[in-house]
Amino acid sequence: MKKVDLNRLVRNSVLKMKPYTSARDEFNDDTEGMIFLDANENPFGNGLNRYPDSKQWAVKKKIGSLKGISEDRITLGNGSDEILDLIFRVFCDPGKDNSITLPPTYGMYSVLASLNGIENREVLLNSDFQPDVSQILKQIDEHTKLIFICSPNNPTGNLFSEEGIRSLLNRFNGIVVLDEAYIDFTTQESWIKKGIAFENLIVIQTLSKAYGMAGVRLGMAFASPEITMLLHKIKPPYNISALAQEKVVLSDMNIKNKIVIIQKEKEVLIKVLLQVNFITKIYPSDANFVLIRVDDADKRYRQLLENGIVVRNRNQYPLCDNCLRITIGTPDENKTLLEVISKIQKMEL
Ligand SMILES: *Cc1c(COP(=O)(O)O)cnc(C)c1O
Repeated sequence: MKKVDLNRLVRNSVLKMKPYTSARDEFNDDTEGMIFLDANENPFGNGLNRYPDSKQWAVKKKIGSLKGISEDRITLGNGSDEILDLIFRVFCDPGKDNSITLPPTYGMYSVLASLNGIENREVLLNSDFQPDVSQILKQIDEHTKLIFICSPNNPTGNLFSEEGIRSLLNRFNGIVVLDEAYIDFTTQESWIKKGIAFENLIVIQTLSKAYGMAGVRLGMAFASPEITMLLHKIKPPYNISALAQEKVVLSDMNIKNKIVIIQKEKEVLIKVLLQVNFITKIYPSDANFVLIRVDDADKRYRQLLENGIVVRNRNQYPLCDNCLRITIGTPDENKTLLEVISKIQKMEL
């Protein structure tokens, strides 16, 4: 069991502060027949006149049974982006603490570090897009509170090695934030359950990708009950709307069939892309997108756009010169993409 000294890691003001409380935190489920005159709501019912459940128990029950984890280890956010921001604010003192990210990776980590006045140290992935553990360890000092790892990583698409992640968890005495936004596209087991052995791990997942609910805005953090309590202490009380909670509680979480289609489509797409003369490399992908290297990313990006296809140009990212990231679409969308690419190729013959 990896222990962690939260009193040392948590921002002083967060340890000392009193959280906001609402009158409805003072009793539990049994609200039948009660008259609510505590929150200045409009009393006339229209389905949405009451504040939503600030602890989101019904959603947590559903997510907990889906992921096989108890509800006292779950935090929900308005997208995982909100949770990432809460993590900075629980642990990092502006102007004093620092975080570490591993580019090329998801852009929000460093944006949130800047927004919160936190120094962010960047340690590039190695040429196989794996974490360089010894370089990371060299960057750690007494003020390093957070390391962000993203596996499968965005935009490279690959899973990080289990040994790499394990060795960071063992050797870093701060918090490791493991972003598993794309884990449901892989056959790899999530760290949610095996991660319980590490008190310094926060696993982040989202309903925005595999679950097909980007519009709902629901992110999830899985962590020790102590860290979960700290995130709840500072989160906005009503951060998940009643509409979002209801939608999630009623939705079918069985996504297997769609994942299988996306995987198959990815294989077909890669096979054809390998034949395209302006594509110089296709990186292996454990996610629902592929990173490709082309002869001239800005030019190819523009040509695709002129034909009504939007991909992500990652040319400016370190180690991603001339790279484009392409999400796997529906079979029809992928067919159109391949037709457009073939048209672009013929134009130049
Ligand atoms: C898409 C994505 C997210 C999702 O963020 P939400 O706010 O939950 O939509 C998180 N992390 C990574 C790496 C992503 O690519």
